[in-house]
Amino acid sequence: MHETSLMYDVLRTIEISASDNDIDEVTEIKLVIGNISTILPDALRFAFDSFKGHPPLAADARLVLEERLPEVECRTCGEKYPFSPLGDYTCPRCGGYDVQLNGGEELYIEYYKGREQNDC
Ligand SMILES: [Zn+2]
Repeated sequence: MHETSLMYDVLRTIEISASDNDIDEVTEIKLVIGNISTILPDALRFAFDSFKGHPPLAADARLVLEERLPEVECRTCGEKYPFSPLGDYTCPRCGGYDVQLNGGEELYIEYYKGREQNDC
């Protein structure tokens, strides 16, 4: 269940950032998850729901998750192309198979939206 602690870190980060920016209420949170990471979106969503009502700032926020595929880069010719889930890494340009994966293991907050404090 490392998703629970990940989600906690995400919510803490947002909470700190929101209070720095005088944001009273967080309405939407967008997270990007590399889809070859070990993070399970369903578990992340479950963790988020379990935090509802605890950190007041993010309690009613809408959680948007996007799984992002890694990019494959050919070391022979430099061609970059999307990762194929079928596992065929062969370069479409030169036919080489000396390739590296970029990304796919990340988890980050792309943005969050919130409402500013009302001063009146
Ligand atoms: Zn190539």
